[in-house]
Amino acid sequence: MPMVRDLPLEDSQGLVILHWHSSEEGLHITARGQHEEIRLRCGCGRCHWIIREQFRPEGPRLVVSCHNCGRRMDFVLEGAGLPRP
Ligand SMILES: [Zn+2]
Repeated sequence: MPMVRDLPLEDSQGLVILHWHSSEEGLHITARGQHEEIRLRCGCGRCHWIIREQFRPEGPRLVVSCHNCGRRMDFVLEGAGLPRP
């Protein structure tokens, strides 16, 4: 079992996401430079997020908003499955 560390949303700015998946326990993230898997925890104490991948001109982003309180954050999404030419 991989180690999972809870990360408060306010400390998550600037994460570069390589992989993510959501489960019963919440949103799990593998980020560049982080040895453990991260579970993102909102300031309201919840770990469940509405998750969208957005493909913007400057690069793909992972946009999350809290199911409970609506707080939002977005991250660089390096592991996005971009179509290859
Ligand atoms: Zn919240």
